[in-house]
Amino acid sequence: MIKIAFYDTKPYDKTSFEPYAERYGVHFRFLETKLNEDTTELAKGCDAVCVFVNDDVNKTVIERLYELGVKVIALRSAGYNNVDLAAAYGKIHVMHVPAYSPYAVAEHASALLLTSVRRIHKAYNRTRDFNFSLNGLMGFDLHGKTVGIIGTGKIGRIFIDICKGFGMKVIAYDAYPAANSDIEYVSLDTLVETSDIISLHCPLTEQTRHMINADSIEKMKKGVVIINTSRGGLIDAEALLNGIRSRKVGAACLDVYEEEADVFFEDRSGHILNDEVLSRLISMPNVIVTSHQAFLTQEALANIAETTVKNVLSFFENDGVCDNELCYRCGNVEHCKKERKQRCF
Ligand code: NAD
Repeated sequence: MIKIAFYDTKPYDKTSFEPYAERYGVHFRFLETKLNEDTTELAKGCDAVCVFVNDDVNKTVIERLYELGVKVIALRSAGYNNVDLAAAYGKIHVMHVPAYSPYAVAEHASALLLTSVRRIHKAYNRTRDFNFSLNGLMGFDLHGKTVGIIGTGKIGRIFIDICKGFGMKVIAYDAYPAANSDIEYVSLDTLVETSDIISLHCPLTEQTRHMINADSIEKMKKGVVIINTSRGGLIDAEALLNGIRSRKVGAACLDVYEEEADVFFEDRSGHILNDEVLSRLISMPNVIVTSHQAFLTQEALANIAETTVKNVLSFFENDGVCDNELCYRCGNVEHCKKERKQRCF
């Protein structure tokens, strides 16, 4: 039976993965701890590890997993910026779940946007306290506003459709624009300068790290709403905080945060938060933070569990071939030019 060390387990992970473990005959060793240099040994005796967005799969971890005989790193996420793919090449095969429910994330981005511009978070707290005053709850119509989408992949495109449903003007920037689409692509500068709302849907890479920074915020329209459901590192959080303090940024909706790894997904309510930037952001009336929750729907979790288990089975039962392998060989990671019928190494 294939054994998989499952790091950073939350109760909802167990609920969604256990039926597939039973159905496909794999064994999960559920571990609450995250994967890092100190916890690698817990994978001893396992054929694969299953990791999430805040597990730190660096070169040292990969080399130790390799020594332990682990063959597969199965990400139960789409993003893979936490895995050193170059270090894994030639040693351990890395797989991800390229799409599980882009609707979940795009709909969460919409929920954040509506909550923010119609002040629902404020109204909810008020009426629970029998405060029925409307003072300070003035919003604005989304209809007719310009929304700038950065990254027009699976999630970005669904968010575009939702925005069009509201009657918004949609412009977009993508380093690899979709051919033959009806998307109005503009330069990143034009998007930043002309959007009333900016929503991030591109991956975190060396090119995109801090793409929203002090310079770009300076160029934005006063009152701009920034939505990030992608990866925290896309935004320089201190620059964002300064933009909010100076009233340049009208609102921020953040499902991800640069330094989220030790904070998000955990109950820290009884603790003092040591992250000054996050504390200040949360204290702002025009900032909404959810803790990397955009993926959390029944449909998405079921798809994640099934695809992750099938990825691992495909590798072990199909001579090392898996369609969802992230291969570093040609440097083109996802859009690999190799024949998908071949092993990566
Ligand atoms: P995708 O691969 O379908 O689309 C990503 C798009 O970004 C592509 O069109 C790509 O060309 C574009 N891109 C790549 N480099 C770029 C650059 N330098 N500048 C501008 N655009 C660039 O991915 P997706 O499924 O739409 O997911 C988007 C991101 O959402 C993921 O990378 C992941 O980080 C994040 N995500 C977050 C959650 C969550 O729960 N918050 C869940 C799933 C995914």
